[in-house]
Amino acid sequence: MALKEGDNEGLNTRVIHHGDSFAGDTGTVMPPIFPTSTFAHGNAGGFDYTRSGNPNFRILDSVLASVEGCAHATVFASGVSAITAVVSQLKQGDLVLCEENLYGCTVRLFEQVFAKFGLKTAWADFTQPAALEQIQAQTPAMVWLESPTNPLLKVIDLEAVCAITQPLGIPVVVDNTFATALVQRPLDLGATLSLTSTTKYINGHSDALGGAVCTNDPEWHQKMVFSQKALGLQPSPFDCWLITRGIKTLPLRLKQQMANAAALADQLAGHAKVNWVRYPHRSDHPQHQVATRQMRAGGAIVTVSFNASQEQTYALCKQLRWFTMAESLGGIESLICHPATMTHAAGSAEVKAKLGIDDGLVRFSVGCEDLADLQADLDQALELLA
Ligand SMILES: *Cc1c(COP(=O)(O)O)cnc(C)c1O
Repeated sequence: MALKEGDNEGLNTRVIHHGDSFAGDTGTVMPPIFPTSTFAHGNAGGFDYTRSGNPNFRILDSVLASVEGCAHATVFASGVSAITAVVSQLKQGDLVLCEENLYGCTVRLFEQVFAKFGLKTAWADFTQPAALEQIQAQTPAMVWLESPTNPLLKVIDLEAVCAITQPLGIPVVVDNTFATALVQRPLDLGATLSLTSTTKYINGHSDALGGAVCTNDPEWHQKMVFSQKALGLQPSPFDCWLITRGIKTLPLRLKQQMANAAALADQLAGHAKVNWVRYPHRSDHPQHQVATRQMRAGGAIVTVSFNASQEQTYALCKQLRWFTMAESLGGIESLICHPATMTHAAGSAEVKAKLGIDDGLVRFSVGCEDLADLQADLDQALELLA
């Protein structure tokens, strides 16, 4: 059964049943894949060329908008494509005020690509009141946030930021990849755009890349549709089909992953060689109050600082059996990332210190495995630090 506009079903239903499947009279229960570059002129679906639209894009658009509880979603080839689509709507001389702990590829795009076109960036710690004053003082063309942040899981009070930007007419982008719309709804908190790398939790199986931008603003929706075709940022029909299949189990996967993550955070917090554990719904999280207000659950990422050298921490990561040492996150399989030797290896000591990336820092992307197996695995690896 296809969902109709105005339907008010729960999230478990909404991820499984979407709008039109373009299935014709076949009765197919799962949507077909439309691997075509072009469409006959004048068709009822309004399709012309896949760079500017394809049935598989529209199917995924409809599920994502339904889960986010918003009017429009536009899909892209990756999270970075979605970011490019948004930033390409700005112009020379515009200032983007960014959270200082943004995802590394977002920082690289701003500093090494868009800076060449005259786009300016300023950076602020949005957990501090000074950042709100900075919005008023600098009146940027856009505010770019991410919450929880990578890898330190800082939680930003999105409602408080949007209360300042809205009267000033400043659009706010929230990268919602770590939380997903199941845990946090940026648009309901006042954001203009909710951006997601669907490569991560939404697809959930580490076998496709994708990105999406959700909004209730019809003008921004038009801008995203324009960017998709004008910049060639469209995904492939097959990847959209995979992500449409992946999202069907998002609530089930997240439930298991979040329960595992909360338990592992507690296990780690009790270990003698752990300096601190970050998990948004733990009471020792620095923004715990905001996190419990804004996030329906704590997510499935846990970041830990070990009292250990870079070599010891690396060895611990390698010792784990069920956590593969790899970049990315959000899949059904558990992963571990050691930023000092992986994602932030190229950064200077100064940059790492500023971002809070020390040699003993690790980020767990907790998967769907049995908790007892993950716990036993951690215990045996932690013996290396004894
Ligand atoms: C992975 C990620 C991105 C980039 O997405 P890709 O699909 O890898 O291009 C952007 N933001 C966050 C928070 C991410 O985790």
